Amino acid sequence: MTNQQNVAVLDMKSRGLRSLLPPSSLPVSKSFSPTDLKMLLKKRLEGEKVGTKMNAWVDSMRSSSPTRIRSTYSTDDNSSWIVHHPSALSMFDQIMAASIGKQIVMFLDYDGTLSPIVEDPDRAFMSREMRAAVRDVARYFPTAIVTGRCRDKVYSFVKLSGLYYAGSHGMDIKGPSKSCKYKNGNRGVLFQPASEFLPMIDEVYKALVEKTKSIGGAKVENNKFCVSVHFRCVDEKSWAALAEQVRSVLSQYPKLKLTQGRKVLEIRPTIEWDKGRALQFLLEALGYANSNDVLPIYIGDDRTDEDAFKVEEFLRRLVDWKKIFTRRRSTII
Ligand SMILES: [Mg+2]
Repeated sequence: MTNQQNVAVLDMKSRGLRSLLPPSSLPVSKSFSPTDLKMLLKKRLEGEKVGTKMNAWVDSMRSSSPTRIRSTYSTDDNSSWIVHHPSALSMFDQIMAASIGKQIVMFLDYDGTLSPIVEDPDRAFMSREMRAAVRDVARYFPTAIVTGRCRDKVYSFVKLSGLYYAGSHGMDIKGPSKSCKYKNGNRGVLFQPASEFLPMIDEVYKALVEKTKSIGGAKVENNKFCVSVHFRCVDEKSWAALAEQVRSVLSQYPKLKLTQGRKVLEIRPTIEWDKGRALQFLLEALGYANSNDVLPIYIGDDRTDEDAFKVEEFLRRLVDWKKIFTRRRSTII
């Protein structure tokens, strides 16, 4: 799930000349030519636009980065998101009933879903128990990890060869390295729709490392087809400064765009491709294009902030259900 960046538009009609000029420039000196005045206005407007945009960025960074405390279903949550999007655990029986006669395909986010959000993104390890739960699920259902991270990086965390991996927000997809029993699942899928952006991404990564090194706690990660700027360890007072540095780099690259996740700014190519398209691609690769006999389940954390414990519980219940269901069917036959 991505969050759209707010766009601030300055309403020129509702603002007078005096409010646009710095106090020191009032009253307007006779030495100002119309051109000077125009330049001054332009400069001031640009400054205000950047300031407004920065505020919007920081607001967006805040709303994309809920804390665990806020996410434990407060009254606010109950009145909005959770009521309309109930926990998959509480709807488990209904989901399973809907899956009868269909192939479940599991899509799992990594950070904050299979792993905790930790201060150092290089140390976002998943627990042994979670790995066992994912391994078991992959035995019964085609399973893919879909993440903003570099594919190799997330593989080094998950370490399971029977899964699909879609790294860099789905721009780097690879099928299981070991044999797979599903329809076309053993085709050695490899799909990288943004290959031409590799040199640009590398350049932006280096520029961002340089620009953000004065901001304590900021960490820039090269995810191959996109770049992440983590602000998990950045003091909230410095978020605006960080956003400004990222903006200044990004302004040089109109072919790249910015999206936000939890405690992370993501810079990626403006191609028509995202996690949703990656899911579609994987379903096609598995032989389920335009199929009615498939039930894709995606578990991520960006809005609901489900903690890893609940994800593990859901995966375990899914495996138990499958075992019981398979046993019952073989008894009837
Ligand atoms: Mg996540």
